[in-house]
Amino acid sequence: MNVACGNCKKIIPIPDDKVPQNKDRAKIICPHCKKIVVFDIPAIDSTVIINPNIKKDHSVYLTDISNGNQYLLKIGKNTIGRSSDICISNEDNFISRKHCTIEVIEKNGVLTIILSDEFPSRNGTFYHDKRLELTDKLVLKDGEQIRIGRTYFMINFK
Ligand SMILES: [Zn+2]
Repeated sequence: MNVACGNCKKIIPIPDDKVPQNKDRAKIICPHCKKIVVFDIPAIDSTVIINPNIKKDHSVYLTDISNGNQYLLKIGKNTIGRSSDICISNEDNFISRKHCTIEVIEKNGVLTIILSDEFPSRNGTFYHDKRLELTDKLVLKDGEQIRIGRTYFMINFK
């Protein structure tokens, strides 16, 4: 995993075998500025480590594969639909006004992207052709495809 130093802002790579298990937090000495850095240890199966050189200037996009439109996702919860935070405009009438949400969580240089279909949309949100249940929360990685209504979208980190 990668940890951002709170003092000098540099990214400190920590090999997986050096990440303590069974703890929520740990401390290291920053190799750049020698300050103590306390960091949260993410749950192993719920995080995606992005390029360690990308810090605050990275962005997450939702790309409509049918027409190439790209929608910039903000940090926090994004509502996706025809009339939402992220307004999808294409020919697909199977996309509801408020259809699903994509939450972008950023912690210590690690991005977690969570898709959920928390609206009772008639036409569903799909991952690998499996429809999400209302209570599902799905973690997405860079380059993964989802289907909203009848349209395929891709998650891209840039
Ligand atoms: Zn530092």
